[in-house]
Amino acid sequence: MPEAILELDNVTIRFGGLTAVDSVNMRIEPGTIRALIGPNGAGKSTIFNLITGIYPPTSGNILFMGNKISALKPHSITKMGIARTFQNIRLFGEMTVLDNVKIGQHCRTCTGFMGALIRGGKAKAEEKAILEASLKALQLMELEHKKDELAMNLPYGEQRRLEIARALATDPKLILLDEPAAGMNPQEKQTLMSMIRKIQEMGLTIFLVEHDMKFVMNLSDRIAVLDYGKKIAAGSPAEIQKDPAVIAAYLGK
Ligand code: ADP
Ligand code: MG
Repeated sequence: MPEAILELDNVTIRFGGLTAVDSVNMRIEPGTIRALIGPNGAGKSTIFNLITGIYPPTSGNILFMGNKISALKPHSITKMGIARTFQNIRLFGEMTVLDNVKIGQHCRTCTGFMGALIRGGKAKAEEKAILEASLKALQLMELEHKKDELAMNLPYGEQRRLEIARALATDPKLILLDEPAAGMNPQEKQTLMSMIRKIQEMGLTIFLVEHDMKFVMNLSDRIAVLDYGKKIAAGSPAEIQKDPAVIAAYLGK
C-alpha cells in the first residue's frame, strides 16, 4: 500500500454531549482527489477543523505524511503543507485581490514585533517571495489580471477562486476545500472543476466537501460518506452512487 499523505486513525470529537465525529478512519493517497459528502450537520467541516488543528480530537490520531499532527497548532500545520478554504467566504472585501492572497501567508513572516526587529534585512527577501507566490497562485486561478481590484467587486465565482488562490499561495501539498462550488452557477462550476483538475496535475492532493453530486461524481477519485459523525460508506463514485446506506442517508430513513 503506498504511504497515505493524510491518515485519520479512529478520530473522534465530542462537543459536550454531541459526538460530531465518531471513530472515523480515512487514508488519502497522494495526488488524488477525495470527496467527503453527507447531510448537513454530518461533521464534514468539523473533520476539516480537526485536520487543520482548530480543534484537537477527543481521541484518535491524524497523520500527515507519516507525522502526527493532531496536537499541533493551525499555523504549524499550514507550514507543514496543509491549506484550506472555508464553507463561507472569508475575504477582506475592501482590500485588493492581491492583498487578500498575501495576507494568507502571514505565518511566513508574522512572528510579531520582536521578530520583525530581529529579521531586519531578511524582510525584503521574504516580501518578494510572498509577492511571487501570490502572483503565481492568482495566475493558476486565472485572476492575475484582477490583482488590483477590490475583492468585493469580483463576481461571486471569482471570489471563491480567490480563496483557493490564497490557500495555494502557502505552497501546500494538501488542500482542503469546504463546499467550493456552493452558490456558483453551472458555468462557474465548470471553470472551477477544470481548475481543481489543474491543481491535481501539479501534484497536489485535494480533499473536498461538496453538496453538488454532479460536481463530486465528475471530479473525485474516491468518496467517503459521513452521517451523524460516522463514516457510513467509502468507494469510487460508481460504488457510492448505488450504495443503499448512502441512498438511505440522503433520502432520510
Ligand atoms: P457539516 O459540515 O457536515 O454540515 P459540521 O461539521 O459543521 O457539519 O457540524 C457537525 C455537528 O457538530 C453539528 O451538529 C454542529 O452543530 C456541531 N458542531 C460543530 N462545531 C461545533 C462547536 N464548536 N461546538 C459545538 N458544536 C459544534
Ligand atoms: Mg460544513
